[in-house]
Amino acid sequence: MDHAPTLTDRLSPSEGVFIGGQWLAGNDGTFDVENPADKSIVGVVANADLVQATQAVDAAALAASAWQDVSPRGRSDVLMRTFRLMLDHADELATLISQENGKAAADARAEVTYAAEFFRWYAEEAVRAGGDYGSSPAGGVRTVVTHRPVGVAALVTPWNFPAAMATRKIAPALAAGCTVVVKPARETPLTALAIARLLEQAGLPAGVVNVVPTLRSADVVQTWLEDSRVRKLSFTGSTEVGRVLLAQASRRVLNASMELGGNAPFIVTSDADLDAAVDGAMTAKFRGGGQACTAANRFYVHESVAFEFVARMADRVSALVVGPASEPASQIGPMISGRAVAATHDLIDDALDRGARRAAVAELPSHLSGHYLAPTLLADVPPDARVVQEEIFGPVAPVVTWRTEDDLLRMVNGTELGLAAYLYSSDLKRAMQLAEKVEAGMVGINRGLVSDPSAPFGGLKQSGLGREGAREGLAEYQETQYFSVDWS
Ligand code: NAD
Repeated sequence: MDHAPTLTDRLSPSEGVFIGGQWLAGNDGTFDVENPADKSIVGVVANADLVQATQAVDAAALAASAWQDVSPRGRSDVLMRTFRLMLDHADELATLISQENGKAAADARAEVTYAAEFFRWYAEEAVRAGGDYGSSPAGGVRTVVTHRPVGVAALVTPWNFPAAMATRKIAPALAAGCTVVVKPARETPLTALAIARLLEQAGLPAGVVNVVPTLRSADVVQTWLEDSRVRKLSFTGSTEVGRVLLAQASRRVLNASMELGGNAPFIVTSDADLDAAVDGAMTAKFRGGGQACTAANRFYVHESVAFEFVARMADRVSALVVGPASEPASQIGPMISGRAVAATHDLIDDALDRGARRAAVAELPSHLSGHYLAPTLLADVPPDARVVQEEIFGPVAPVVTWRTEDDLLRMVNGTELGLAAYLYSSDLKRAMQLAEKVEAGMVGINRGLVSDPSAPFGGLKQSGLGREGAREGLAEYQETQYFSVDWS
């Protein structure tokens, strides 16, 4: 098998679909991958059709029993080697992420580290293959409880974290003994293909991971969900698409994990350390240009500190450097598409129409040619503005003030989404008491970042089903089986 000398070499069309350890041409030709920072073409990728979608499942099904029979230590070793390879190639991977997603160089570097850590974490988890042993209350029976891999897993990932959303699924699936078919987002397939190269280099047997870039996302995924050999769907993306896939998965009563949209509140109490809160707010809001499912979407600041919070935040937002990742000073990259920019402008306009004011807008250098939107801080935003009610997925921070905790909680929990939340208070007991009332799967307390491979990532309500990371993330790829043994 031929390999390009470096990961960032342009992939040739004949290498784009990765099935059964082979790099194949796409049956439906190729498609271009655009750099949103300048609209240049950064890669040409094979476009898989439905025949290849099924061939990917053929390969995963064929590899399943041999991979399941590899010892936990053997599987762990492959994962650990992949972790090291990702770090060895961190610069190239970060460049690739920036090229196809647009995110700033520091954000892309941080994503590579985060993404690689899932391989290390699950290399360690892979060998903790325990079970349970008991006897029935009446005696005469021994119960042996064990875990088995759920089977071939279909993994569908979004464009906003092209590396981490793939590894957060692939690593636990492999640790559990599953084989997988992966469909990366059409905007960002190059990173997933690069990770497949590293898995290959790490000694992963052919067919255990198959990567299918395609423009026919809906048809390819449906083909997988209808294939009786596929036993699991793990999806990360919008709630809208998640609902459609959950309905499709229900036909075959498929085991499904769903990591969906968010609308994270960022709460600042009257006794919060405002410097820390503003630091946390900048991280929670502007990491990846606000295009994170955990991004702080609405800032609820107590009225007694709102003026000061907005003033300090305005200084920070005005000073943000916007530009392509190729310019070292850039802190905020472009949005993923022109459509995303236009939709975000609509949200800003709606808030301004309802009486909000622009408290700060970062400078947008005139030489930029990509899909840029100037980072914006909005103050005096009414709680019912669309920018508060909907997932923004862009660099806009709306500030709403609150007076009583009852009002605050009504606003915070008055949404069907419940992924992340953030809370700043100097009184830890008060913070915990408040946090327990927040309907979110993850609450950062005096922290602007909740993502951590050792912690269970996931949402309440329509933000999803299941968890990724931690022990829980492994269980998503396992079935429980027990043996009832006659002991009389
Ligand atoms: P998306 O739902 O449009 O796409 C996600 C994936 O599904 C992509 O691979 C896409 O090609 C595919 N897809 C799109 N339509 C499909 C269909 N009808 N059938 C099958 N597959 C289909 O989401 P996106 O725009 O790529 O990502 C942004 C969204 O993802 C945001 O809502 C964000 O909050 C969410 N997200 C959630 C998490 C989480 O962990 N909860 C993490 C990252 C992103």
